[in-house]
Amino acid sequence: MDKLRVSLLGATGMVGQKMVRLLSSHPYIELTKVSASPGKIGKRYIEAVRWVEGGEVPEQARDLRIVSTEPEDHKDVDVVLSALPNEMAEGIELKLVREGITVVSNASPFRMDPEVPLINPEVNWEHLRLLETQRQKRGWKGLLVKNPNCTAAIMSMPIKPLLKYRLNHMIITTLQAVSGAGYNGLSFMSITNNVIPFIKGEEEKIPKESGKMLGTLVNDSIRHVELKALVTSTRVPVKVGHMGVIYLFFDSPVNAEEVKRDLSSFKSLPQERNLPTAPKTPIRVLEGEDRPQPEIDVGAEKGMAISVGRVKNENGAIRMVVLGDNLVRGAAGITILTLEVMKELGYV
Ligand code: NAP
Repeated sequence: MDKLRVSLLGATGMVGQKMVRLLSSHPYIELTKVSASPGKIGKRYIEAVRWVEGGEVPEQARDLRIVSTEPEDHKDVDVVLSALPNEMAEGIELKLVREGITVVSNASPFRMDPEVPLINPEVNWEHLRLLETQRQKRGWKGLLVKNPNCTAAIMSMPIKPLLKYRLNHMIITTLQAVSGAGYNGLSFMSITNNVIPFIKGEEEKIPKESGKMLGTLVNDSIRHVELKALVTSTRVPVKVGHMGVIYLFFDSPVNAEEVKRDLSSFKSLPQERNLPTAPKTPIRVLEGEDRPQPEIDVGAEKGMAISVGRVKNENGAIRMVVLGDNLVRGAAGITILTLEVMKELGYV
């Protein structure tokens, strides 16, 4: 199979390092360019990065020179992957796409744009068809694909197979890891022995982005699912792994045992096509009363599987505790899996 050559923007950040690690063993995606903040241009990756990913910096990336984010530095790659901070992603990514470059990005600008697919591959790979509308209506020479907010990526997975039950509303409380705020996002003093009951912007993003991903592509636009959700987002002193306690209320009673079967049998195109980054079982259902736990479960299927436990009928609702790796399933892994699906469907 021909190799796909990719550039990575934000290659020295938390998500960027995870992508460097995942790409180092990828069978056909080859990392050929890396970019970071302007002051690091020209340095070797090994000199530019403060490596916190664990183990050694992968051999393939060590000697790559940091390039700028300008289009001329990315003309000779097939795709640009972006792990840029939200504040600067919009201008940089738009410039690349206008110049004919295909960008798959983790950053938030354009996620809710009606002509930009917001992809969580198992949930809505079909939405990539929106790229045809994007091509016609936007006049961009390249393509722009977005990945969701990390918590929305994790929480939307177990909701997808349950939509057939006519969901009325839900209550979600999240317990989110410190790594979700980036390496320098939170000070040790603010989070040690502490819980912060607020994360700016998260409570709105979860239902909004999930509603788009869980929606249906009708003709050339996405009909969103109107998710009635009461969300409380909290930051907890956990390094990696976002957890959510979810109560789902349906129009008529739903049996918890049936829900477990729906979750554990859920499969989608990435599994059917056996894509390299796809987890074999996207949703693991755990029976232990004290699971899932970040320390034990976050690495399931190399961080690409969601773990769901404590699935119970409670006062007319289904209660479940959901856990996923915010850096892999919520960011780096989902971007790579999206690119694999795009290749499979002929978009790159
Ligand atoms: P991060 O650790 O702060 O990394 C930011 C990266 O962007 C670094 O490589 C940084 O390079 C680079 N950068 C900063 N300013 C730049 C500029 N002016 N021009 C070019 N590059 C610049 O952030 P992160 O946690 O990896 O998050 C990256 C993106 O992924 C964000 O949009 C975030 O919202 C999204 N995301 C994060 C998570 C998560 O769990 N952390 C999950 C899902 C999505 P230097 O090293 O040179 O500063």
